[in-house]
Amino acid sequence: MIKVGITGGIGSGKTTVCEIFIRLGISLYNADSKAKWLMNNNENIKLQLIERWGSQLYKNNQLDRLFLAEIIFADKKALEYVNSIVHPAVNTDFKKWSLLLTNEEYVIEESALLFESKAFNNMDVTVTVYSPENIRIERVIKRDKVSREQVINRINNQLSDQEKVKRSEFVIYNNEKQSLLEQVLNLHNELISRSI
Ligand code: ATP
Repeated sequence: MIKVGITGGIGSGKTTVCEIFIRLGISLYNADSKAKWLMNNNENIKLQLIERWGSQLYKNNQLDRLFLAEIIFADKKALEYVNSIVHPAVNTDFKKWSLLLTNEEYVIEESALLFESKAFNNMDVTVTVYSPENIRIERVIKRDKVSREQVINRINNQLSDQEKVKRSEFVIYNNEKQSLLEQVLNLHNELISRSI
């Protein structure tokens, strides 16, 4: 079974691309939503976060995301601390998840932070979904009802697109010119042929 990591900047179309793979019957692990889940359900993670910021970090046993966001926004070291706890836990969880699917030809991990979190070390194939920045900004403003400045701020906090593309074996161009479906089908066929 081949493990495929799909990444891309905010609003690049990772989820849109992964939805096509799901329709092709491919199993998907969403690292970003799993990270959120683990922060609420993994006792080890909770203990380490509470040890640092106190029990007010959880309200009714649920992570106070706004409170954590304020801490992280103001302190880079705090973000690094959270990542140093959550990223390894997600990577371990992905390994366990994929062990149950060894009969499948390939599986996908979707992660905005595939390279930053070191998740790419678990992958056989890496893919970046690439969209020009102006298109990404417009899409995210529309999707999340946020300001242009907020989107640009989020973009500036991620590894650059150029770096992601450079480190990936495949690139899917989501630029409203090339067909997404065709590119996904080509990659699907390539992955199937490699798995045989
Ligand atoms: P994030 O990292 O913020 O979760 P993402 O990379 O997963 O973003 P998507 O959520 O797939 O990106 O896409 C961002 C928005 O742009 C969504 O509202 C999606 O429906 C829209 N979108 C993506 N690709 C296209 C496309 N080719 N044509 C039209 N709309 C698109």
